[in-house]
Amino acid sequence: MKEVILIKNGELALKGNNRSSFEDILVKNIRRRLDKLGEFTYCKAQSTIIIEPRDERVDLDEAEKVISKVFGIAAYSRAAALSKDMETILTETPKYLAERLNACSSFKVEAKRSDKKFPLTSPEIAAALGEKISSVFGHLSVDVHNPELTVTVEIRDNYALSRGDQLKGAGGLPTGTAGKAALLISGGIDSPVAGYMMAKRGVELVCVHFSSPPYTSLRAEQKVHSLLMKISEFCGNIKLYVVPFTEIQEQIQKNCPEDYYTLIMRRFMMRISQQIARDTGCLALITGESLGQVASQTIQAISGIDAVSEMTVFRPLIGMDKGEIITISRKIETFDISVLPFEDCCTVFTPKHPRTRPKLPDIEKSESALDAASLCETALKSTRLLHIGPKMRIGEKP
Ligand code: ATP
Ligand code: MG
Repeated sequence: MKEVILIKNGELALKGNNRSSFEDILVKNIRRRLDKLGEFTYCKAQSTIIIEPRDERVDLDEAEKVISKVFGIAAYSRAAALSKDMETILTETPKYLAERLNACSSFKVEAKRSDKKFPLTSPEIAAALGEKISSVFGHLSVDVHNPELTVTVEIRDNYALSRGDQLKGAGGLPTGTAGKAALLISGGIDSPVAGYMMAKRGVELVCVHFSSPPYTSLRAEQKVHSLLMKISEFCGNIKLYVVPFTEIQEQIQKNCPEDYYTLIMRRFMMRISQQIARDTGCLALITGESLGQVASQTIQAISGIDAVSEMTVFRPLIGMDKGEIITISRKIETFDISVLPFEDCCTVFTPKHPRTRPKLPDIEKSESALDAASLCETALKSTRLLHIGPKMRIGEKP
């Protein structure tokens, strides 16, 4: 029996004229991710995409796992692709769904017919299959309002598809449909979640990480690779720019008042990230800040940081509690990596009494001893690019 995967688009249906190009991007994203598992054919029809393996040996369990994480998919399910005659539908559907039918106590059948030439109407197909299933599985009762399992048969142009209930997909919009943005990613809990949330809205991520060797170790950087590997399961390959930050931090320490360290450091991160964003065609920056979480995340501090960015800065976590952020980080499996105890450049240089209500002129004065442009230029010159994705193993050179 041939098995396929059926995919229901998410919000794509709402996108009017853009719908078909959104669908094309979704198919491209799925194709890129399934490539490693074998060859598939893709067929688009009425906000559904049917994915058919070309080779029976393809591991559909793996394919389903991959698909469950692709943004832009509202729901998905596996289905038996049967030849379009009632006899086959009646014998094969109960066999295909036997395990699930055995495990529940009530069911109903729904039938849909896009091929209007099929000899039976939808209610007739549903009635016949319902009767057949009841006769094979004596323990089952029919419940049209609240069934434990809904069996669906769709009569399409080339075959009949029989399936159980659909599973919920990753939701959101296909990666790439909302343009590109640069994510400032630390090894912490928040920024990977911020990246995931924006990627879910269709944003392609370019990532920037600041490392301060020897204060921070290679393992701290590898932690960022592992975090991005997790995010890439949802949004495909990710470019990571690793910026050497030691010189800038030492200059700040030497020349600036201690209570402004963090703020000045964050302003340098914004300046450099903005330059990388421009160079890579990004339209915005993304950070993992949440209002009031730490001294550098008060409204005054955030305004002082934003003052150096001409680009829009997205902060998807700004109104969230730590607990809410942690719930997402567990769901996307970044939490256990984020809490590994490797040092971050921010924690290495944390001042004892950071400013919580800094005024912009004071911030500007406190960093006036530094030549910001030339420090940024030097850091950018030694920035490394890594490609993170399913094909890269952790710690591997680009
Ligand atoms: P996170 O959990 O994301 O580290 P945080 O609560 O620790 O966030 P901060 O350390 O103040 O907060 O950092 C705020 C934001 O600044 C981070 O969410 C991230 O976007 C950015 N950031 C901090 N450190 C780095 C770094 N080493 N490289 C790149 N971006 C960073
Ligand atoms: Mg942090």
